[in-house]
Amino acid sequence: MRKLAAGNWKMNGTGPAIAEAEALIAAHPSAPCDILICPPATLLSRLSAAAQGSALLTGGQDCHTAASGAHTGDISAQMLKEAGASYVILGHSERRADHGETSALVAAKTRAAWENGLIAVVCVGETGAERDAGRTLDVIASQLQDSLPDGLSGANTVIAYEPVWAIGTGRIPTLEQIAEVHDFMSKTLSARFGDASGGLRLLYGGSVKPSNAAEIFAIPNLHGALVGGASLKASEFGAIVAALSAS
Ligand code: PEP
Repeated sequence: MRKLAAGNWKMNGTGPAIAEAEALIAAHPSAPCDILICPPATLLSRLSAAAQGSALLTGGQDCHTAASGAHTGDISAQMLKEAGASYVILGHSERRADHGETSALVAAKTRAAWENGLIAVVCVGETGAERDAGRTLDVIASQLQDSLPDGLSGANTVIAYEPVWAIGTGRIPTLEQIAEVHDFMSKTLSARFGDASGGLRLLYGGSVKPSNAAEIFAIPNLHGALVGGASLKASEFGAIVAALSAS
């Protein structure tokens, strides 16, 4: 299984940001893991063109369930694909919180992604209050159940465990807490999807940095990271790619 270092640029980056991706490409002409950047939609075509022929893959940060239509401000999976994307992040906690996205909607978007040949990076994770209430595994179980359609395989989906309270805060769970959730996800997914979930990659996301990447990548049932802030600088994301390559 090829591990995955995925960068989520969120609503950051204009034209000059392409130079950061070019520096990353130059530093990692090939890598034993997959490297993905999901830029703002405005940069997707340019980044995909810059990445052509390199080890860098590109993706969207969201897609609509429909192929086209009267949905002002939205973008379809087909449009992402045409702009060069091979992945799309779905159900990120910022979209669940800012746009009221439910797990049922995330499942419908995941189907749209699959129908257009995109690999869905489906995000799940508990809030701080849910963890404090001892509800973490219940929340993960219900988000996995409701966000993932039948038909999932390791070839069409990646799961990212992202505790909401760890995103952009500099706080991460203990390694034991991450391991507990990844072990739980691995067992839950294999119980539901059987052999199809065999090649499924389970990422951790939330304040991953060069300084904590190696210890996170040593956790069992963990196959890479979804990285926000630290993916914006080639030097930092490159160090995370190097740590994943060495793991
Ligand atoms: C994210 O938004 O997916 C994320 C993990 O952000 P950060 O790395 O900045 O915590």
